[in-house]
Amino acid sequence: MEQGDNQSAENLLVSSDNGNELEDLPVKERCFEQREALPEEPRCVVCGRYGEYICDQTDDDICSVECKTILLARLAAKTKPATKEAKCVNLPFGDESFCITDNNFPNIPTLVASRITALRSKLDICVKGEAVPDPIMFFSSCGLPEKLVCNLETAGYCMPTPVQMQVIPASMSNRSLLVSADTGSGKTASFLIPIIAHCSRVRSHQCTGKLGPLAIVLAPTRELCLQVEEQAKVLGKGLPFKTALVVGGDPLAQQIYRIENGVELIVGTPGRLIDLLMKHNVDLDNVCIFVLDEVDCLLERGFRDQAMQIFQALSQPQVMMFSATLHSEVEKMSNSLAKNVIRISCGNPSRPNKSVKQVVIWVESKQKKQKIFEIMKSKQHFKSPAVVFVSSRVGADLLSEAITVATGLEVVSIHGEKRMNERRESLTRFLTGEVSVVVSTGVLGRGMDLLKVRQVILFDMPNSIDEYVHQVGRASRMGEEGMAIVFVNEEDRRLFKELVQVLKTAGAPIPRELANSKYTTGVSLGSGRKRKSRSRP
Ligand code: ADP
Ligand code: MG
Repeated sequence: MEQGDNQSAENLLVSSDNGNELEDLPVKERCFEQREALPEEPRCVVCGRYGEYICDQTDDDICSVECKTILLARLAAKTKPATKEAKCVNLPFGDESFCITDNNFPNIPTLVASRITALRSKLDICVKGEAVPDPIMFFSSCGLPEKLVCNLETAGYCMPTPVQMQVIPASMSNRSLLVSADTGSGKTASFLIPIIAHCSRVRSHQCTGKLGPLAIVLAPTRELCLQVEEQAKVLGKGLPFKTALVVGGDPLAQQIYRIENGVELIVGTPGRLIDLLMKHNVDLDNVCIFVLDEVDCLLERGFRDQAMQIFQALSQPQVMMFSATLHSEVEKMSNSLAKNVIRISCGNPSRPNKSVKQVVIWVESKQKKQKIFEIMKSKQHFKSPAVVFVSSRVGADLLSEAITVATGLEVVSIHGEKRMNERRESLTRFLTGEVSVVVSTGVLGRGMDLLKVRQVILFDMPNSIDEYVHQVGRASRMGEEGMAIVFVNEEDRRLFKELVQVLKTAGAPIPRELANSKYTTGVSLGSGRKRKSRSRP
């Protein structure tokens, strides 16, 4: 679509749905980026998704570079059984080779050293630091407890995501890390897996004695803590690994009781954890992993001093910091927390996740409610479950009621003034599909994995473009496609320049009013991208 044409907001939404602004999509690297096959379409011989490509070596239909790797590794394993000698097979990352060695994990290719740089560049992994450990291709390649590998399989994690490929081995070498990667790229598991491996190793050698926590994860919102703890429980099931959730809104006494009875991991918000540590003597001597998730948000919300206070109570732990967006403040913080930090970045974290189609609509403030009702009543445009982001707590309550009245949809609202139990219950009802829409302030914008959400509506533009990236990112999980509908008008002019840059990079349509605004001047408006046909990767 050309910039600056005269389409109304309504047409803009319709034309974006047709998707004809896309050209030259890159070959899918990962299996999860591929869609399901329609009945008449070719299927990937490895995973059954849409077989968009043909494997040059075998002529089989495959969905992505990842499945091609698996297919060729299987083939190599069948035709050339592993012996004591290492053997090389050609795998599809350019001309690089992998080695099949007779290690503890038969038929698992490990990377030939000279090809690691090529692999990193294919997967968009950048590393900075001294002696950065090599990435892994398989969870079983780095000595994780068998039960943990089993739990990963049960959770449906067939292969590590790119960020996990690099972070897990680096973390398991006890290095401190500063990691930035796209939203929904699997950062949570990338720190939980090494934590669980460490805890179960320590506990299985320590039958008695001190049972103080071994790791602490701090995150900026209660909901995110809840989700990180849930994921930790799933991945650590059946291992000597217990968790405590330390967030405001839940009774402090219960949290203390749980920690007193012995836990391996504490997941909490900085404020409540400080509160707990002041009121109760917790033995932190054995904490040797300290994680700051969504670290830029922790800093923006003024948690710096509290995070530092907690850090100072620990004995020089390994520090891991994660975010989808990084700033100089974060860099400064990382330098004050650890030496010899490895910096890892995957994808283009300061831009919205590529799997989310951004549809920006120019809507005057008075018309916003009418517009959202229209969208939600339209079978073509509304995709539930959906999250609506607003800027104020009162706004969240009022809008959720108004949507229910106007559309008859089941809607809940979540914001910081609601009691924790209420927030937890609303989130559960939403995640289990009982209600189809949640209207939220920024509390759900950060790090939350909102399962199955395919549409977010930014009813109010957030305060910064970083926050925009995070909120838009909620519409996609692990590369699956989603849509973000964004309402803008002149009141959001402070973000126009950055927003236009972001939309341009994504090849998304730019509304005429935004393109022509005097607040957008200085940004060159280039053309979009083309759709790609079936090809050989
Ligand atoms: P991030 O923290 O990068 O925003 P999350 O850690 O919340 O993303 O992960 C997004 C989703 O991907 C979660 O539902 C998680 O269960 C899933 N996931 C993580 N790692 C894998 C993997 N290796 N294979 C499949 N799914 C994964
Ligand atoms: Mg996260």
